[in-house]
Amino acid sequence: MIEFRPSGLTEDEEALRAEVREFVAEEFPSGTYLPELGINAGADVEFSRRLAARGWIGMVVPQEYGGPGRSATERFLVVEELLAAGAPVGAHWVADRQTAPVILSFGSERLKREFLPRIVGGDAFFCLGMSEPDSGSDLASVRTRATRTEGGWLLNGSKVWTSGAQYCHYVMTLCRTSPQEGRKHVGLSQLIVDLTSDGLTVSPIKLLNGQHHFNEVVFEDVFVPDHMVLGEVGSGWHQVTSELAYERSGPDRFLTTFPVLRYFLDFRDVAGPEAELRLGALAARYWVLRNMSLSIARSLDGGEVPAVEATLVKDLGTSFEHDVLDLVRDLSGGEQEPGGDLFDQLLAEATVTAPTFTLRGGTNEVLRTVAAKHLLREKRRAL
Ligand SMILES: Cc1cc2nc3c(=O)[nH]c(=O)nc-3n(C[C@H](O)[C@H](O)[C@H](O)COP(=O)(O)OP(=O)(O)OC[C@H]3O[C@@H](n4cnc5c(N)ncnc54)[C@H](O)[C@@H]3O)c2cc1C
Repeated sequence: MIEFRPSGLTEDEEALRAEVREFVAEEFPSGTYLPELGINAGADVEFSRRLAARGWIGMVVPQEYGGPGRSATERFLVVEELLAAGAPVGAHWVADRQTAPVILSFGSERLKREFLPRIVGGDAFFCLGMSEPDSGSDLASVRTRATRTEGGWLLNGSKVWTSGAQYCHYVMTLCRTSPQEGRKHVGLSQLIVDLTSDGLTVSPIKLLNGQHHFNEVVFEDVFVPDHMVLGEVGSGWHQVTSELAYERSGPDRFLTTFPVLRYFLDFRDVAGPEAELRLGALAARYWVLRNMSLSIARSLDGGEVPAVEATLVKDLGTSFEHDVLDLVRDLSGGEQEPGGDLFDQLLAEATVTAPTFTLRGGTNEVLRTVAAKHLLREKRRAL
């Protein structure tokens, strides 16, 4: 079954939300800056450290590992406010969203003690080394390979589209540690690789507009010590798929274009029953997506791994992000001038980056396949 259980917020959760909202209102007064668009956000290490000082990075990390021991739901509330404001969350994003929880779930005691306090402090940033030149949707076909050597592994291969590798400290690398032997989902492992390692090269892959968002990462006999293997050798597929529940379910999958809508309302006169009706319909869809995403945060707090539910949030959410842009473009009536006001600049930026929304983190076609296969399996089991 695919289930989204409705849930409200407790008084403490409401208070946290109000606190974050006040913080972002002070940091980012509307109309005075160009907001970042969700996880396209650049790295602002000082901002990440200010968040860390408030205990808002690695929130789910327990106190014994230097964290505040808060819930996935509380993290949801913090990131929702940050993304709505267009805050520069890029530096710590991956470490906060998924590296900390997966190290908590699968990491050795040594990895937990070594990395979790640094993630919480905004001192260790991670990127994701999953995709390869010939392995995107078909992730299990990765060819990057680690072979045994004295005290660890020698890593060879290359990753592409690695967002943020140019400023992160580590890349969480999915690789093959034993041959396929007909079953490609076995024999995969996750290694934590220091991006300053000998034999590792990071080269920019520039976007058409010249921006440097992602990279190619090449490994040539990179030595990775044994203790940097996350979890069991060979259990990489199970780990990486449970990680996707974090990667696909959060507010980052439906709030990317929210700052555009906010600036549209702040910078342009919107009046008339038709505009109000269409904006009202949009607000209702925001609310539905938010409740689906919140329900997943609650499931994570309950120890569940709602990976299939997450595919639906990402599919519906990223399609919705496009619809927001279409409506704003329609209501604002025309093309934006380069170098126009902040709203024009933001809409232009969103227009250029929009095609990536439904690709990154797994394409929508693939997400639907995951959900459909799950439903079929459930149906067969019930027969
Ligand atoms: C902005 C951005 C940031 C990214 N950041 C990272 C990152 O940090 N780390 C990382 O590892 N990767 C990253 N990626 C890569 C991303 O995960 C892949 O682009 C994505 O998984 C698709 O893989 P691909 O590009 O190889 O496309 P392909 O897998 O070649 O797919 C091409 C097309 O075929 C369709 N298709 C493929 N297989 C099927 C199927 N079975 N059924 C139906 N249709 C199918 C796809 O939907 C797609 O439209 C990023 C991508 C983008 C755009």
